[in-house]
Amino acid sequence: MKVAVIGGGVIGLALGWRLAQRGVDVVVFERDAAGSGASHAAAGMLAAACEAEPGEAALGGLNRASLALWPAFAAEVEAASGLPVGLRCEGTLLVALNRDDAAKLRHDMAFQHSQGIDLAWLTPAQAREREPYLAPQLAGAVFSPGDIQVDNRAVVAALIEAFRRAGGVLHEQAPVERVAVADGRATGVVVAGAVHAADVVVLAAGAWSGGIDLPIARPPVRPVKGQMLSVQMDPDAPLLRHVVWAPKAYLVPRADGRLIVGATVEERGFDARITAGGLYSLLDGAWRALPGIEELPVIETWVGFRPGSRDDAPILGPSALPGLMFATGHHRNGILLTPVTAEAMATTILDGVTDPRIAAFGIGRFDRLRHAA
Ligand SMILES: Cc1cc2nc3c(=O)[nH]c(=O)nc-3n(C[C@H](O)[C@H](O)[C@H](O)COP(=O)(O)OP(=O)(O)OC[C@H]3O[C@@H](n4cnc5c(N)ncnc54)[C@H](O)[C@@H]3O)c2cc1C
Repeated sequence: MKVAVIGGGVIGLALGWRLAQRGVDVVVFERDAAGSGASHAAAGMLAAACEAEPGEAALGGLNRASLALWPAFAAEVEAASGLPVGLRCEGTLLVALNRDDAAKLRHDMAFQHSQGIDLAWLTPAQAREREPYLAPQLAGAVFSPGDIQVDNRAVVAALIEAFRRAGGVLHEQAPVERVAVADGRATGVVVAGAVHAADVVVLAAGAWSGGIDLPIARPPVRPVKGQMLSVQMDPDAPLLRHVVWAPKAYLVPRADGRLIVGATVEERGFDARITAGGLYSLLDGAWRALPGIEELPVIETWVGFRPGSRDDAPILGPSALPGLMFATGHHRNGILLTPVTAEAMATTILDGVTDPRIAAFGIGRFDRLRHAA
């Protein structure tokens, strides 16, 4: 079987790797450099527990299923590539800076406990025992041991290597112009005017998935802009070890001393500008939780585009065009959802039957929503 994947982000690469491991002839076509889209921009939080929200039961289940796969997935990618992916398991602290924040955290925690999620309330003193540099006026915190993190840029590098070692072919600087169609089914992709034949085509072009020419309705995916920055801590005496969620920013410490501060959420199309207001809100939000950040040198600022779908859940599985599959719309949790997406999509392609784990996430749900309205 021949599979052509459009997009070399974490989703396209991980799916390509899983298929190549199972003997499939896979080619990933990437418009730019592999992993240069949202997969480069992300913070790498694997936040299935503290992001659990009422009304998102199906997505919450998928998030938690993928989180459970991450430790073994990380170990397998590292072994297959010889490269580290920076999985860190200190967990996450959600901090309250005043009584209102604390009331909100307690309210959310009640729901998360009802879902069987392991979270603990910490007094300000207990929170500062874990993270001594947190702001002195803390009103309390929630400790979420299950919300861990990975270095998403390292994951991209490892997946590229693992994919190639498994026999996959990666074409970079190779934008797909359209999906080739004959007799009512996808037959490959068109790149630089030439058709590359495939039995199955997978659209995994992240926030750009809605812009590729198809003979059917395009998947409803839009870019959700996020600005981020990083500062440099002393790796031997870092200001933070846990991921910290403050009310207006999150902070993600990497093993090499980088501290990532994110992220704005903006509906501005593909506007890649970094704005004073964006950086100000991130730094202000971070400084209120971790005042010592003001001494640290800024090392990078950047923008990424989350692939947001109409209901914020991914779009996975067969499309209305035989031979064309979707693996897109992962919005703010695409790094978290990489292992389950890759495994379930590979099974769906190879068995010809939708993997039950992704059955609720097909494109058809948007038709059902329209008819129900
Ligand atoms: C600021 C920010 C913070 C985030 N933080 C987190 C986080 O902490 N945890 C988490 O789980 N997720 C996070 N995310 C979300 C996560 O980054 C995405 O959901 C995930 O990276 C999506 O992966 P992807 O492979 O679908 O998309 P991408 O990584 O964007 O890859 C799509 C690729 O397709 C390529 N492409 C586009 N058009 C074409 C074409 N015509 N032909 C060929 N190739 C094409 C692009 O160049 C790109 O490389 C964050 C995102 C942002 C922006």
